[in-house]
Amino acid sequence: MHRRGAEGICQLCGGLTSLHASRTAGVQRAPNYGIDISAAAADGWPQRNMAGNERVVIVGGGVVGLSAAYHCLLAGRPVRVIERGGEHSTNCSTGNAGMVVPSHFVPLAAPGMIAKGLRWMFNPESPFYIRPRPNAELIRWAWLFWRHANASHVARSRELLRDLNLESRRLFAELAGEENFGLQQRGLLMLCKTSEGLDEEAGLAAAAAEIGIEARVLGPRETSRLDPGIAMDVAGAVHFPQDCHLDPGRFLDTLRRRVVAMGGEVIGSAVADGFEISGGRVSALRAGGERHVGSHFVVAGGVWSPALLRKPGLRLPMQAGKGYSLTLPAPRELPELCSILVEAKVAVTPMGGKLRFAGTMEIGGNDQRVNRRRVRGIVRSVSSYFPEFREEDFEGIAPWVGLRPVSPDGLPYLGKIPAIDNLIVATGHAMMGLSLGPVSGRLVAEMVAGVKTHIDIAKLAPARFG
Ligand SMILES: Cc1cc2nc3c(=O)[nH]c(=O)nc-3n(C[C@H](O)[C@H](O)[C@H](O)COP(=O)(O)OP(=O)(O)OC[C@H]3O[C@@H](n4cnc5c(N)ncnc54)[C@H](O)[C@@H]3O)c2cc1C
Repeated sequence: MHRRGAEGICQLCGGLTSLHASRTAGVQRAPNYGIDISAAAADGWPQRNMAGNERVVIVGGGVVGLSAAYHCLLAGRPVRVIERGGEHSTNCSTGNAGMVVPSHFVPLAAPGMIAKGLRWMFNPESPFYIRPRPNAELIRWAWLFWRHANASHVARSRELLRDLNLESRRLFAELAGEENFGLQQRGLLMLCKTSEGLDEEAGLAAAAAEIGIEARVLGPRETSRLDPGIAMDVAGAVHFPQDCHLDPGRFLDTLRRRVVAMGGEVIGSAVADGFEISGGRVSALRAGGERHVGSHFVVAGGVWSPALLRKPGLRLPMQAGKGYSLTLPAPRELPELCSILVEAKVAVTPMGGKLRFAGTMEIGGNDQRVNRRRVRGIVRSVSSYFPEFREEDFEGIAPWVGLRPVSPDGLPYLGKIPAIDNLIVATGHAMMGLSLGPVSGRLVAEMVAGVKTHIDIAKLAPARFG
């Protein structure tokens, strides 16, 4: 989970019109993306290109990889997604808090994070923790994080994060106009237990207004009036009306189904283990004992991406930020809006009749073991904001574990590797990967097409740390 804030860690957490116009001639169009997927499936489009030399080969069937596949298909490119898990793999994209967050314009590397992290290191139930260990990659990552946790980095990044999140939100809404996958466009409440917390959030609301993000500071009564379905004991809240929420598992199923219906291939239980490179280009990906040829290759492997990029010459600084979620199937009360419990750094999201609580960021290697004490930290915070809830409500609820791919400056890696023209990296989205999935997919499709990206992503270059 992520979170921004002066000291804060956050809890979290179209188409190429001109291109499809030429590529999709003869295919009946749906209103927004230019593709009617039922017609596409029926006439076999885009399988006419399946010979391989036009194919985009994508490693990773999480939200970033599937979004890339979807947008490449919209642009008329055949795709093959290689995923080592089965259909429901243990990636980071299914059990997260499901928030789409234009409100999150402050990167994880922000002022105050270092001090806060050091203080929290001695609390076993704290929401943020770095497990110290003698590991060269961790030391490099921590050094780079320290160098970016300052106000000028935030000032340099916030408009880019705003633009990426707003464009992604637009793409979510556009897709929701074609197919109902449960997108709720009701906004996000930053719920503050303390007046200090509310003051800090009010400062962020003012910063949001400076860059055109809507935000409203509310007292306790106004907060309750906005979401009467749940009793709250809070000092107030900030409401970000442009934020949205959804069930990420359902969204992923929707994306996967559309990719397949449009002729894309999703190959499960296949581990990508290396690229064949010659003359400054990748000619094939080796995975599942086979060679997968293509014109372009995309690494969207989440926290597991750096291993694949080493041979192509990129040492990508990345750490796994482990987080947990707990989903109550029949909660005592059901809010209508998603919220973040500001001081506790816990995200709360209604998903149909269920209620999901998500939190913690443990930087401690790529292991998916559950740390019961940190899960207890999430559970214990709930009743102090929502007094009707009890710790016993969570008995027997199995925690879901996810590893966020965290870059040291809190910005994603999106772009090509300098020396290899047809290898694209799309990862490092940390606590915003769901939110930034669609825009990342569109940007990948633009890079594959060789057109100027609609947002300047020079700051996201995968080789920015050398
Ligand atoms: C508790 C929690 C709450 C969160 N809440 C939010 C939220 O509300 N909003 C938000 O925007 N973000 C949220 N996030 C962050 C978000 O979940 C991640 O940023 C996002 O899921 C990352 O997606 P991804 O596709 O990059 O990686 P993943 O989902 O991890 O997918 C990568 C895929 O690549 C596959 N793979 C890797 N290596 C190989 C290989 N060699 N061969 C084949 N396959 C391979 C993996 O099996 C995996 O399926 C949350 C995260 C956590 C942990």
